[in-house]
Amino acid sequence: MSTMMDMNTITKNLKALTLKQLSALGEKRYRGVQLYRWIWKRGEDRIENFSDLPKVFRQKLIEEGYYVGSIEERKRLVSSVDGTIKFLFSDFESVYMPSENRRTVCVSSQSGCSLGCRFCATGLLGFKRNLHFWEIADQVLYIQKAVGQKITNVVFMGMGEPLLNLPNVKQAIRIMTSHIGLGIGVRHITVSTSGIVPGIYELADFDRRVKLALSLHAAIQEKREKIMPIARKYKLDELKEALKYYYQKKRRRITLEYIHLAGFNDTDEDVEALYEFTRGLVVKINLIPYNPVPEFDWKSPTEEEVEDFYWRLKKRMLDVPMTVRWSRGRDVMAACGQLALIEKIDPSFLRITSGESA
Ligand code: SF4
Repeated sequence: MSTMMDMNTITKNLKALTLKQLSALGEKRYRGVQLYRWIWKRGEDRIENFSDLPKVFRQKLIEEGYYVGSIEERKRLVSSVDGTIKFLFSDFESVYMPSENRRTVCVSSQSGCSLGCRFCATGLLGFKRNLHFWEIADQVLYIQKAVGQKITNVVFMGMGEPLLNLPNVKQAIRIMTSHIGLGIGVRHITVSTSGIVPGIYELADFDRRVKLALSLHAAIQEKREKIMPIARKYKLDELKEALKYYYQKKRRRITLEYIHLAGFNDTDEDVEALYEFTRGLVVKINLIPYNPVPEFDWKSPTEEEVEDFYWRLKKRMLDVPMTVRWSRGRDVMAACGQLALIEKIDPSFLRITSGESA
């Protein structure tokens, strides 16, 4: 696995260079800003088209082997239900989710994942590698160009645990939020974690006020350990302390994601435990009815079960905002916990718009 440092020392891909490294390429420091803007803001792939840079400088870059790289699309799956598009890149995936007033990209931070949550298709793949920062940011740029629409929101809810690849995730967030980069408002970026406590503290101290979401899924320690092996390492009480710290530093309400597994984490004891966990925290709860993954035999809740659970929670926690999030793109296996490089999907549900690499 390459680290950020050694990738950068060998690469001629301009996208893989930081602003500081780009600035070092020219005889004048502001050349770095110009390059960065061409690459990330304007999305220009050809150095010869960087028209406000001197021709000799462009030529020098090309002669020295510099280029603007791109992640490689293998396939595109378009949901016939809600416009969700799942992009399969070399060894990771992203999902585009348009809605009336926002266009969201769900990005991957790793290829595969080491954490093996017992309801998640990505976990079945195991860990392959950390994505480099440019590969993370490029998911947004690539999709923005592919759909011809400005991306307004980013969620780190694709493959992988972002807080286990924090140096690259932080650098990608810098590109996403920079006014000479992708220009996305920092409050429109959400990092979702399974509960990596040291990572939560580090993100709290990061100089971008991004939103945090925690995949909680159970507020009873033993139950959480059953579905999320990482819970054995980072216990609920430590996690709660980390969330308090995050809120103190960022002053942004934290989202608790809760996959509703029918008959498992929806009992009255679960309601009580969730109530206890949220006491003293500034949070909102997203209930996500479980999406079937063929390899697991959890039960998806019926609409009545979802409604019943919602109201039992609501009665106990009147002041905690709560929403039920029916996942999007179920027909293209693009919903939460379903990203697993799946290409064989019932074709009656799909329009496959591109074959091999775009
Ligand atoms: S839910 Fe997230 S952390 Fe858990 S295995 Fe899947 S990708 Fe990894």
